[in-house]
Amino acid sequence: MRTVYLDNNATTAVAPEVFEAMGPYFGPEYGNPSSIHTFGGKLAARVEQAREQVATLINADPSEIIFTSCGTESDSAAIHGTLESSPAKRHIITTRVEHPAVRGLCQHLAEQGYRVTELSVDRQGLLDLDELTDALTPETALVSIMWANNETGVLFPIDRIAQMVKSAGAVLHTDAVQAAGKEPLDMSKVPVDLLSISGHKLHAPKGIGVLYVRRGTRLTPLLIGGHQERGRRAGTENVPYIIGLGKACELAHQDFDSERAHIRRLRDKLEDALLSKCPGSVLNGHKTQRLVNTSSISIEYIEGEAILLLLDRLGICASSGSACTSGSLEPSHVLRAMGVPFTMAHGSIRFSLSRYNTDEDVDYVIEHMPGIIQRLRDISPFGRNKAEKVSAKKP
Ligand code: PLP
Repeated sequence: MRTVYLDNNATTAVAPEVFEAMGPYFGPEYGNPSSIHTFGGKLAARVEQAREQVATLINADPSEIIFTSCGTESDSAAIHGTLESSPAKRHIITTRVEHPAVRGLCQHLAEQGYRVTELSVDRQGLLDLDELTDALTPETALVSIMWANNETGVLFPIDRIAQMVKSAGAVLHTDAVQAAGKEPLDMSKVPVDLLSISGHKLHAPKGIGVLYVRRGTRLTPLLIGGHQERGRRAGTENVPYIIGLGKACELAHQDFDSERAHIRRLRDKLEDALLSKCPGSVLNGHKTQRLVNTSSISIEYIEGEAILLLLDRLGICASSGSACTSGSLEPSHVLRAMGVPFTMAHGSIRFSLSRYNTDEDVDYVIEHMPGIIQRLRDISPFGRNKAEKVSAKKP
């Protein structure tokens, strides 16, 4: 059976070039870059090359790049590190639609006595920036607002947010885990202080991440110990994964515009066909202020999990809500925050594409999805009732 992988916001395939670049560092080149001897020490130069490749993707200085173990660690390091370095300020601003890596931590910090303001979003998933203005006070230590939402792909205007946060004297962290490699990120233009990236969302392996720290930002390290990463993140460097992430960033940078155009065309083709062929379907999130690869669709009176199971039997991989919430029957906190009605939030399905998807992939989903929806609607008591009501109204 063929596999059509449309769940790239959950994780991506490791690019063959990345796999190849990493190979020697699992084999003969196993040294420790901190060693004095040449065998290990020469790897320090490879790590620095990877740091430059990451910096180039986001137009930063290599000295502003810290390698971490994942996006979650980068988020934690940014948030804990900022709060610890300004202990007098006890207020955090974030949003209701953050990934649990940020939202869960902020909720935990609220239990520890921090005041946490969660900004709301409207029906299209957009923030009201006046709400941010009202929330910012001299007590605000940190604002943590994601660049792109993992479920809907909705983009927040981080450049405007950064200006507002800077003039209020607070630190801005952005979780750019879903944006890196998909959106242009230019640290010379957008004055964020801290930015998180995760390797496995851009064709590097799972278990490697980056925290960008703008020069001059005060940050207490999360991991304290050895002097690696210039004392900002202790722990022996994960050399193969760092080299893999560097290569992945280089690939994302070099084919950036053409890949975005390819992915956007396929996503729009899929989305337009599904919205027109599946009755009762609506798009979740703003139509244009959105990542090019993501399409979140809700289908009335149908369980997203049921759609996923039937798609899975055909080898089609998608997601209902975020990967981290699927498996629980709670509707997605993102869709609920957007005011998507309970029945629609339960019937949500997310397709997320990558450079490796093809027209054949999309055609396969378009061919099968309407039949799946019809089948589920036929067996759903709510769907049947709705259909009966609709036909009863007909003259
Ligand atoms: N932030 C966002 C927006 C994400 O989508 C994810 C993963 O899904 C994370 C953070 C966590 O990244 P990682 O899996 O590398 O810990």
